[in-house]
Amino acid sequence: MQSPIPAYLARVVSQVQADVGGAVADYIPELATADPEHTALAIALPDGHRYLAGDADVAFSIQSMSKPFTYGLAITDNGLPAVLDKVGVEPSGEAFNEISLDASGRPRNPMINAGAIATHSLVHGADSAQRFERLRRLYSACAGRDLSVDERVYTSEAATGHRNIAMGHLLRSVNIIDCDPVDIIDGYFRQCSVEVTVADLAMMAATLANGGVQPLTGEAILDRHAVRQMLSVMTTCGMYDAAGDWLSVVGIPAKSGVAGGIIGVLPGQIGIAAFSPRLDRHGNSVRGVAMFERLSDDLGMHLMELPPAHRTAIRSIEIVDDVEVVELQGALQFTNAEIIVRELVDNTSHPAPVVALDIRRVHSVTDVARRLIMLLLRGFVDDGKRVAVIDPDGVVGGLGLGDGIVAQRWIELPHNR
Ligand code: GLN
Repeated sequence: MQSPIPAYLARVVSQVQADVGGAVADYIPELATADPEHTALAIALPDGHRYLAGDADVAFSIQSMSKPFTYGLAITDNGLPAVLDKVGVEPSGEAFNEISLDASGRPRNPMINAGAIATHSLVHGADSAQRFERLRRLYSACAGRDLSVDERVYTSEAATGHRNIAMGHLLRSVNIIDCDPVDIIDGYFRQCSVEVTVADLAMMAATLANGGVQPLTGEAILDRHAVRQMLSVMTTCGMYDAAGDWLSVVGIPAKSGVAGGIIGVLPGQIGIAAFSPRLDRHGNSVRGVAMFERLSDDLGMHLMELPPAHRTAIRSIEIVDDVEVVELQGALQFTNAEIIVRELVDNTSHPAPVVALDIRRVHSVTDVARRLIMLLLRGFVDDGKRVAVIDPDGVVGGLGLGDGIVAQRWIELPHNR
């Protein structure tokens, strides 16, 4: 029997592949060489488990998805008030490369280029190389593997990025940056050229979802307050002048990059990464946006309607005679339903002929959790087991399971229980 989640993600990828709208970024010449058909999706759970779909092994440059992480390190190094002195947090409503400052002479936020260049300069380091190395290590620690620069992308942007160079000089002239702007811009181009896959990005996003603790290594990389600040500006400014539309339709704090990547973070729940090189007029991946819209809808992930997560959905698993009794608890939504599916999907460690889900301690179930558990139980039936749901009070309506799936809605527990 197989988990239904990989097949679902593969379906999301294949459904957006018909869309050939948008255009690959070409203002950085090297980006124009990307295969526009590449499409990939990855999700990472707070325990580090990842699901990958599509062209998940294709590497591309991180571009502006580096900006929130750099902002996090600038906050760690300087404290938030000192960073706010130099870079605001208001959505600009302008393009990512707009040359503009707010009324107090600061870049409007750290997600547009002007703010990101200023943020880069706030990262501590004796020189440009050291500053970049600290950033590269931060991104790598979050991804869980050593990341490096795509030198071709770096060289290409360094040779053509006159607008960003102009922005560096402007920021120096108004004392937002206080060192050599040429050095800062060079470091910023390197930061944007770090090469990643959706698997790396999903883990970086999951680190933020986990409050700054890397799910697999357990390393506390960024402090909770820095992460909260990063996610806040991603929510209001991460998708540039499409941020309002994105928040209302998708409802997931996110950041896009011009190579075609988008990361999304649901605090406490999940890290998501999508990739496809064709961009819309805001500079956001067309297929990436479409995949996020699907995920948000299908998996019930809009931030504004998310119930709180409950990490320990499985209270106990006990074999009583020939019945495996799985006791669930709390609010069931996608994240903890996935844990239930993953735990129970492996038949070999669950040899009992009868599986009973005891849901007397479950107080709510989202649609996707109900569907996942139903598919799990159907799988058990297909494997020749009998299944039952213990829900004598009808609290969650026996999970709404259809006929033929549940052998009996209620089984008498053996009296020693
Ligand atoms: N390196 C790109 C630039 O500065 C990053 C922009 C982006 O990803 N939106 O133009």
